[in-house]
Amino acid sequence: MAIKFAKRMDKLKGSEIRELLKLTEKPEVISFAGGLPAPELFPVEEMKKISTLVLEEAGTAALQYSTTEGFQPLREHIADRMNSKNKTNVNKDDILITNGSQQGLDFAGKVFLDEGDVVLCESPSYLGALNAFKAYSPKFIEIPTDKNGMIMEELEKVLATTDRVKMIYVIPDFQNPTGRTWPLERRKKFMEIIEKYEIPVVEDNPYGELRFEGENLPSLKSMDKKGLIIFLGSFSKIFCPGYRIGWTCASHEILQKFIFVKQGADLQASTISQREVSKFMDIYDLDAHVEKLKEVYSRRRDLMLKTMKEELPEGLEYTHPEGGLFTWVELPGDLNSKVIMEDCVKNNVAYVPGGSFFPNGGKENCFRLNYSTATDDQIVEGIKRLGVVLRKHMEV
Ligand code: PMP
Repeated sequence: MAIKFAKRMDKLKGSEIRELLKLTEKPEVISFAGGLPAPELFPVEEMKKISTLVLEEAGTAALQYSTTEGFQPLREHIADRMNSKNKTNVNKDDILITNGSQQGLDFAGKVFLDEGDVVLCESPSYLGALNAFKAYSPKFIEIPTDKNGMIMEELEKVLATTDRVKMIYVIPDFQNPTGRTWPLERRKKFMEIIEKYEIPVVEDNPYGELRFEGENLPSLKSMDKKGLIIFLGSFSKIFCPGYRIGWTCASHEILQKFIFVKQGADLQASTISQREVSKFMDIYDLDAHVEKLKEVYSRRRDLMLKTMKEELPEGLEYTHPEGGLFTWVELPGDLNSKVIMEDCVKNNVAYVPGGSFFPNGGKENCFRLNYSTATDDQIVEGIKRLGVVLRKHMEV
C-alpha cells in the first residue's frame, strides 16, 4: 500500500545525527551534546508544595479548560519580567502563553510562510527552529555571522536583492549553537534595516537571563517602533522545561493570528502548569533562583574553557560565551566533525556535529559543546578525551 502523505512531509526527515547521538546515551560516554538545563537545580521541594497549594486554592479551576491567551496572573508576571529584564514596555494583553517557546516557532511558520517564501536566519542557527519552519516549505537564506553575531552589511545585501523574504529568525542573546551575543550597535543597525524593509522578525530569547558577565543588553522588542518583532520567551532554561511554558509577545495584529492558530493547535497551554509556574513566582523569588543557575553554569563554563585551552590542540577556534549553555568550536580547513564524532564515540565523549545547524548545509568543520549538565570531573575528563581525538585528526 502506498500511503500518500502531504508534500510538506518530503522535507521532514529524521536527522542523521540523531542516530549518531543515540550512541552517546551509553553511560560510559561523557556527552556535551545535549542542551538540557541541570536537573539538580530544579526546585523539586518547592514545586511539591506549590502543586498542593494550587489544588487547595483553585480546586477544580486548576483542572478545567481555560482561555487560549493563558492564565492572566502568569501573563502579568511575564509582562513585568520582560519590562524589567528585556527593557520592553508591554502588558499582559501583549502575551500569549504557548507550549514552550518551540510552539511559538511552529506558529510563526504557520502564520507567515507560504511554500517558497524566504526565511532569513543566522548562519548557523537553532536546529529546532529550522525544522519547525521546514514544515511550511520555505527557502532559507543564511546570513553570515562573525563573533558578534549576524553581519548587518550582509543582511542588507540580501534584503536589497531578494524577493519573497517573509520572516527573519534571530537569537541575539547567547545564541544556540554558538553562544554569541549581538552588541548594542548591531541591534540598533538591525532595527534600522528591518524597519526600512518592514519584515517581521522572530526574536527567540530562551537564554537572555542567563548572563554571567558583561552588561545586560536591550532586546530587539524593546526597540520595536513598528510592531515587527515577535519575541519568544521561555521558562525552560530559567526554571524547568517540564511544565512546557513559554510565551509569545507581539503586536496586537500579529498576536491575534497566533491566538487563532493556538486555538486550532491545542486550545490552550496546560491550566495546571500555568497556575503552578505563576504561583511559584507569587511566593518564591525567581530572580534568586536564576542567580543560583548562573553561578553553577558560569563555573562550568569557566572550567570547560580553561580545560579546552589546556587540552585541545592549537589551530582551532571557539567562542567565549558571556552566558547561555553553549560554546562553538571551528576546526581548521576541511576537517569533518561528523567523521571525527565517530572516533569520539569510540573514545566515550560526544558533541553535536555542526553541519545540521546550517539549513543549506555545506559546513562540517565545526561542532557545539554544552557545559550545563556535566559535573566538574566529567568536564575535565571529557575535554581531555576530546583533545586526544582531535589531536589525532589534526596531526594527520
Ligand atoms: N529556541 C532555542 C534557541 C532553543 O535552544 C530552544 C530549546 N533548546 C527552544 C527555542 C525551545 O525551548 P522550549 O520550547 O523548551 O521553550
